Amino acid sequence: MMTAPSPLSADLLARFRAIVGDKHAIMDGNEKAPYLVEERGLYQGSSPLILRPGTTDEVAAICKLATETRTPLVPQGGNTGLVGGQIPHHGEILLSLRRLDKIREVDASSSTMTCEAGVILANAHVAAEKAERIFPLWLGSEGSCTIGGNLSTNAGGIAALSYGVARDLVLGLEVVLADGRILHGLSKLKKDNTGYDLRNIFIGAEGTLGIITAATLKLFPKPHTMETAFVGLASPEAALKLLNLSQASAGAALTSFELIADIAVQFALRHGPGLRAPLSESHPWYVLMEISSPRDDARALIEDALEAAMEAGLVDDAVIAANLDQRKAFWTLREVISPAQKPEGGSIKHDVSVPVAAVPQFIADADTAVTKLMPGARPVAFGHLGDGNIHYNVSQPVGADKAAYLAQWHEVSDAVHAIVRQHGGSISAEHGIGVLKRDELPHVKDPVALDLMRALKHTLDPLNILNPGKVV
Ligand code: FAD
Repeated sequence: MMTAPSPLSADLLARFRAIVGDKHAIMDGNEKAPYLVEERGLYQGSSPLILRPGTTDEVAAICKLATETRTPLVPQGGNTGLVGGQIPHHGEILLSLRRLDKIREVDASSSTMTCEAGVILANAHVAAEKAERIFPLWLGSEGSCTIGGNLSTNAGGIAALSYGVARDLVLGLEVVLADGRILHGLSKLKKDNTGYDLRNIFIGAEGTLGIITAATLKLFPKPHTMETAFVGLASPEAALKLLNLSQASAGAALTSFELIADIAVQFALRHGPGLRAPLSESHPWYVLMEISSPRDDARALIEDALEAAMEAGLVDDAVIAANLDQRKAFWTLREVISPAQKPEGGSIKHDVSVPVAAVPQFIADADTAVTKLMPGARPVAFGHLGDGNIHYNVSQPVGADKAAYLAQWHEVSDAVHAIVRQHGGSISAEHGIGVLKRDELPHVKDPVALDLMRALKHTLDPLNILNPGKVV
């Protein structure tokens, strides 16, 4: 457990400020405020100083001084993380990486792009598109989150089904270690078997093992055709069969496959301005699926899959987006589901994964457990069925007291996570551990894996300078 560090002296703060220059060292309370609270307002941090370095060398100098003076640092990218990992909970210095925002190179022939850590994900997309390529990591937060944050959380987006999660999209990393040494690993090589894969140690480490300052990312050809369908069906079982059938016919061209409960669509339609229901009638469940192909055949592939599914009685109704605007409308509906839960009152959230085949049973078991625990609670399940990753959120009963409802967070989470474990799943599919799930990790992680994680932390950061109190 982390203990609060003693207040940092004015002299020490001045030494840190001198590294980045006063212009990029924030001490004013109002200017600091947006860095200290996270998206959901679950955590409010405090910090005497926010450092905004502009180069890798400045990051290295900051880490060196931090180690010399045993001063803890909390790295932060776009501050969109959902587990409190980027917030200084104990008055640490906050290290904002957002000024490291250069795209150092786009190498279309090698299909690589080298970005600094503070590059906003949406800007990386634009740079890839200019070279007729795509960087296939798409998240609802892409207008604010950064490449460094995406890699540090090993983010998974809506196309992970086909292209993989952030970890799968990286070839090389540049990392500043706790003692200020720089690991120069910006390789473009797909094949390099010269020892341990150090890159993967830092991906998903949530800033506890090193500061990622740049990354060489994989690019992919732009699909030639793309088709998106919104499908109504009776159950998650039917959706799973549709997934298997679509993968069998479209293979890796099936890039997204999202499962959405009717209540999630109802929330989105109720609270998302200007949204319209894609289908004329409501259905218990929906699938939002997308096929992207390098050839002219996306339309034929999606039609074949849906026709076969209808013949098999799996699909009740479906509409294929007629144009880009309609495609966008389908995806907006999906993205609005998260914010649309807020006006419905308290929401107890779970970001879990189970083997793909176990998703229907997981949802059924979790619904039973949650409604037994809290009659009237409203499970809102949606997420990336193709990755076995369900955001299993539970909205409060209509008219219930929000604070009293949220006070039962741990009880509900324990019940849901127990079912996740029964199915061989993970309590954190996408968002990481941070502080939100730190105390639960020892109960769910293999003890040998935990020992190795602690040993790695001790080797790379023996003085516990980097993001102390997070993850392990
Ligand atoms: P931050 O929030 O700033 O930091 C996250 C963690 O990484 C912290 O522990 C921080 O200390 C560490 N960190 C940040 N930068 C560095 C660095 N350069 N070096 C070392 N450590 C660093 N997540 C998904 O996986 N999939 C989704 O689909 C998704 N959708 C979202 C939608 C919304 C609306 C929101 C608000 C969040 C969503 N997220 C999603 C969560 C979040 O956007 C991701 O975790 C994202 O990768 C965080 O990036 P960031 O730059 O904001 O990092």
